[in-house]
Amino acid sequence: MGRVFLRHLGGSRLFSCASCDIPLTNRAELISTRFTGATGRAFLFNKVANLQFSEVQDRVMLTGRHMVRDVSCKNCEAKLGWIYEFATEENQRYKEGRVILERALVTESESFDDSITNPGDN
Ligand SMILES: [Zn+2]
Repeated sequence: MGRVFLRHLGGSRLFSCASCDIPLTNRAELISTRFTGATGRAFLFNKVANLQFSEVQDRVMLTGRHMVRDVSCKNCEAKLGWIYEFATEENQRYKEGRVILERALVTESESFDDSITNPGDN
């Protein structure tokens, strides 16, 4: 853990820290929008950059027992969600190493390099 991904995340819709606007991940890494966090709707991502991690915690969720770490913004330390380290239920193993970001704690925006042309005739 603790690996930092600083590669360019452009090319699709970006998710950034709502507090400081640092880019975290993009639409291509989005696995599911059907999760629930402390603040409501939450998203599951394959990879998220610019995070710092808490100690591992043992947490019992609706889908079983999991070992998780809370994740926060590396830049401003705002809490963002959590990462799954280990799932005890076989059918929840796909979440291991994946990151939950709470919808209310991130900002979704278009990246700059989209050269969208208007099909209309303005
Ligand atoms: Zn931040």
